[in-house]
Amino acid sequence: MTRDPLKPGSVIGILGGGQLGRMVALAAARLGFRCHVYCPDPASPAFEVAAVHTIAPYEDADALAVFAREVDVITYEFENVPAETARILSAAKPLYPDARALAITQDRVAEKRFFAGAGIAVAPFAPVDAEADLEAAVAVTGLPAILKTTRFGYDGKGQAKVATLEEARAALARLAAPCILEGLVPFALEVSAIVVRGRSGDTAVYEIGENRHENHILATTTVPAAVSADTLTAARDLGCRIAEALDYVGVLGVEMFVVRDGAGERLLVNELAPRVHNSGHWTEDGAVTSQFENHVRAIAGWPLGSVDRLGDVEMRNLIGAEADDWFAIVSDPAARLHLYGKAESRPGRKMGHVNRVVRRG
Ligand code: AMP
Repeated sequence: MTRDPLKPGSVIGILGGGQLGRMVALAAARLGFRCHVYCPDPASPAFEVAAVHTIAPYEDADALAVFAREVDVITYEFENVPAETARILSAAKPLYPDARALAITQDRVAEKRFFAGAGIAVAPFAPVDAEADLEAAVAVTGLPAILKTTRFGYDGKGQAKVATLEEARAALARLAAPCILEGLVPFALEVSAIVVRGRSGDTAVYEIGENRHENHILATTTVPAAVSADTLTAARDLGCRIAEALDYVGVLGVEMFVVRDGAGERLLVNELAPRVHNSGHWTEDGAVTSQFENHVRAIAGWPLGSVDRLGDVEMRNLIGAEADDWFAIVSDPAARLHLYGKAESRPGRKMGHVNRVVRRG
């Protein structure tokens, strides 16, 4: 469907009021758009920077209908948007990324099958719908393996590493089916591709970043990743292929493992995030156009902005009390501080991030 580019002054509807929605809304405001954020949580960080907000459950069909009437295009900042919510909204207004991208990326089995169908290398996997499936699943993946819930997992939640069939049984009892069992990948490092694809199919991929986790939460993204030039190119190509296969519109995060063996480096795709991604936060200060602005441009039907990198970058997440060091951070003139305006700092909570860019030339 061809649609005219959205004019400045139009209203962008954002489902979800966390920091990702907040940063999308800030980028949208810079381009002259107004944002309407829809989130059940009255303390949503995105509300503070949006023109309008709605506090209502995602299942509230009446509130969704009013929201859809008041906006020109709809996007979201989290992948667990209920299918019925996506159906109601996309019947009323354009929803980007679309309901198919949501359906595939919110279910780990559907996602892995999509990769397999597109000829994209992933760890061996098998769906586990009941305990009786475990033995056959282990035969596919080998041990050790990782058992993950098919839905709603994040930051290491909803998954368990298992070394024996007994451990897999115990983990399944704890996590509850439906699950997926994946072979444990002996990766050297983790990287991600932040891809943006516009409504007319134009696609761009940011420089590949290397991600380091602490306590299952992203700690730093370093750009460029310390991998071979061939691997950087292969990772970008994979990102493009995936976005095209999904006929995707918006920013897409593609998380990958780099495996090193005698044959060199190879990539296995781990998972997709159908939204702006934490590992793309470096683009706010380290690229010509941030992932947030490019997401807005894509869903608005605007041309994409340059994804060129301005220098070597490190993005560090500020988790829990780390954000209390804000004064020391801003005392370093090279540090670019981003705080999410969350009132309460809890252990493990993402409170902000800091970018450091070493400019080239
Ligand atoms: P996920 O929720 O799938 O992103 O997994 C969270 C983290 O667990 C990843 O970033 C990896 O560090 C680790 N992980 C997930 N799946 C695997 C796997 N199949 N093999 C090795 N490590 C994994």
